[in-house]
Parts: sequence; structure tokens; C-alpha cells
Amino acid sequence: MAYKINPDVCVACGTCQGECPAGAINEGDVYSIDPNICLDCGTCASVCPTGAIEPGE
Ligand code: SF4
Repeated sequence: MAYKINPDVCVACGTCQGECPAGAINEGDVYSIDPNICLDCGTCASVCPTGAIEPGE
């Protein structure tokens, strides 16, 4: 399981990347989470100012 960033909501502020303890978040036009590295901790979702990050299914 891994968290996911909704590209329609992400504003590429980079807040989540700085908080992820696993370094799972990659920079880009919008940010993305590497599901192979994500620890499913939810830290990113709690800090995202736009609510773009949700738990995976
Ligand atoms: Fe990183 Fe945790 Fe978010 Fe996974 S859930 S991307 S480990 S902050």
C-alpha cells in the first residue's frame, strides 16, 4: 500500500517531499510517490496544504 498524489490537486509546492521520512516523493510538474518506497505512514497527507494526498486502495 502507498499513498497517492492527485495530480489535479497538487500545486507542486514541495511541502510533502520535505516531510517524507522515506524519501519516497519525487519532484516534477506535479509531485509523485514511489509506491515501492512509501512506508504508508501518512505524514505527507497530513502536511499537504491542498489535500492532494490520499491513502492508496
Ligand atoms: Fe512518505 Fe509516509 Fe507519504 Fe509514504 S505515506 S510518501 S512514506 S510521507
